[in-house]
Amino acid sequence: MQPGYFPANLLFGIIFLAAIAFFLFTAHRLYRLLRLGQPEDRFDQIGRRLQGVVTFVLGQQRVVREPAGWGHFLIFWGFIIITIGSLETFGAGLYHGFAYWKFLGRPLTAALYLLQDLLCAAVVAALLVSLYRRFVIKPERLRFDDQHAANLDAGIIIGLILLLIVLLFGDRAVAYRLSLEQSGGYFPGAAFISVALSGWFAGLPPAALEGWHSFFWWAHTLVILGFLAYIPFSKHLHILGAIPNVFYRRFRPVGELSKLDLEDESVETYGVARINEFTWKQLLDLYACTECGRCSENCPAHLTGKPLSPKETIHHLKKHLLSQGQLLLAPGEANERLLVGEVCSTDEIWSCTTCGNCMEHCPVFIEHIPKFVDLRRHLVLMDSDFPPEVQTVLRNWETNSNPWGLAFATRGDWAQGLEVPILAENAAVEYLFYVGCAGSFDARGKKVAAAMVRLLQHAGVSFGILGAEEKCCGETARRIGNEYLFQTMAVELAETINGYGIKKIITTCPHGYNCLKNEYPQFGGNWEVYHHTEFLHRLLQEGRLSPRRPLDKKLTFHDSCYLGRYNGLYEEPRELLQAIPELRLMEMERHRRKSFCCGAGGGRMWMEETLGTAKINEARTDQALALSPELIAVSCPFCAIMFEDGLKAREKEATVQVCDIAELLLQALEPGE
Ligand code: SF4
Ligand code: SF4
Repeated sequence: MQPGYFPANLLFGIIFLAAIAFFLFTAHRLYRLLRLGQPEDRFDQIGRRLQGVVTFVLGQQRVVREPAGWGHFLIFWGFIIITIGSLETFGAGLYHGFAYWKFLGRPLTAALYLLQDLLCAAVVAALLVSLYRRFVIKPERLRFDDQHAANLDAGIIIGLILLLIVLLFGDRAVAYRLSLEQSGGYFPGAAFISVALSGWFAGLPPAALEGWHSFFWWAHTLVILGFLAYIPFSKHLHILGAIPNVFYRRFRPVGELSKLDLEDESVETYGVARINEFTWKQLLDLYACTECGRCSENCPAHLTGKPLSPKETIHHLKKHLLSQGQLLLAPGEANERLLVGEVCSTDEIWSCTTCGNCMEHCPVFIEHIPKFVDLRRHLVLMDSDFPPEVQTVLRNWETNSNPWGLAFATRGDWAQGLEVPILAENAAVEYLFYVGCAGSFDARGKKVAAAMVRLLQHAGVSFGILGAEEKCCGETARRIGNEYLFQTMAVELAETINGYGIKKIITTCPHGYNCLKNEYPQFGGNWEVYHHTEFLHRLLQEGRLSPRRPLDKKLTFHDSCYLGRYNGLYEEPRELLQAIPELRLMEMERHRRKSFCCGAGGGRMWMEETLGTAKINEARTDQALALSPELIAVSCPFCAIMFEDGLKAREKEATVQVCDIAELLLQALEPGE
């Protein structure tokens, strides 16, 4: 049947409408599944959201951060251009005289055809590379529990796109031949690939060309409509999910967890136990996953063999939503199926260090950490289900407001002899130095706190400490999932700080920094908060610190997750180090936003690490030792502890030193320190 003529156009119209109706039906079902989720407000800043779609969807900014992403870039744009070409074929299927050149004009049509030819060729190349990677190179990040199903799905999709392009080229090659035969026919010669391919059909009589045209047209049309119907059932569901997911992406600080309303007595459960207890946006995340594996490729838990792969977690949650959600759409259906135990394991949930690598590298802005914390919240608050060693540390926070359980009254003892004003005695200071638990109680942390005091005094900064009145900020309790304990601590500490009229805070701990800066506004703590590297950098720029004493050492710097990925402080620590004469900074392979966690975050500092092929801190220490440094510089007291343990495990503690940047800076200021 010749496309565009009756009854072919009627048949095509029916098939087209049926395919669109089927697609809309499945899309509507997906929408209804999203509506099973809890409310969440992501409807602000529409202009900025649209701008994000342009940058991250059309511009694929996160995708092309790495070379393999350019293949996806080409496939994405090729797909759009093919779709524009397909619209013309659809038009010609309904009416035989339909052609773009008749209303766009010949020059514009020629340019469009040329672009289509070039992009189609580029997409073929990108797809062949993609097939080679998946089936020959088999990169670790594309590995799935169910590898056969994943490969089959990817193979079908890649095969369908390749077939579409082959059929499109066939159709265009024949269209060129026909245009030469028909008076008034036109096919832009600029589409040189189609024209070159038309050589295969040279010499065929018009009737044979019409036959080939019919074949290519119908085959192309049916494949594209079949593809449309298949999308919602395949990994290419992300074609539908990614755009809205980028649009509704998070604008709040990445390090801010949501606040549970613990005072609402109508609430019967906290955290997430079942799929429909996630918010609609958390469910939309599941549709958006491209299964690219960048999250797992950078996940320290996954890379050290823990039972956690963020890619798999998202995939399993998606499968569960699609199956269990379908049942829940039936009226009156209650969800009895628990996620932890059925869809993910407790070991998986507790393996996360909240390092943020997954969220940093996800091209479609999927938010993994809030999901893990929501699952932990339910385990901790509703089921009292957590690793046994966490019990002790929770009790220590409750009784002494520090994880070691040391007497709270001794919290300010580290500052004895340093002549630091205590706010209770003199509150007329510009900055509060919030020391934190490690700075107050850990032997290593106390040295860093003392170095910081000396630096602040040297620069003439007006500051004081809370001393014995200081309490833990509760950051780790929150990440462990004990929101109740965290909120109790946060309310108390915010009241103490506000009671002294403090407006500016400096802290040496990136965890406390992130928490005070990004989470305490939820509890009335609206302060300017500085990490000490950020503040020291400012003093350096203002000329109030001048490190002149040379330090002839080779060192590498470890980016703390909560400083770098969470708060974007990558350059300040480096510029401080580079200001010290003769200090030679070497970068580890995983640095800045790709930095590998030390293993302490998300409460992991206080949990046994018995699973996997290696301890995360030892793996990170190995990465540092690969550079043969004399020093490992850190900006976090917990990183310092983890590295020191790592060096002991590698029997390198005598030859390699771990130093906080404040300590190095002080050495460069004061001979003999
Ligand atoms: S936050 Fe870090 S440890 Fe947790 S899943 Fe993401 S990458 Fe893995
Ligand atoms: S969650 Fe993001 S980074 Fe991970 S596989 Fe899915 S799309 Fe890729």
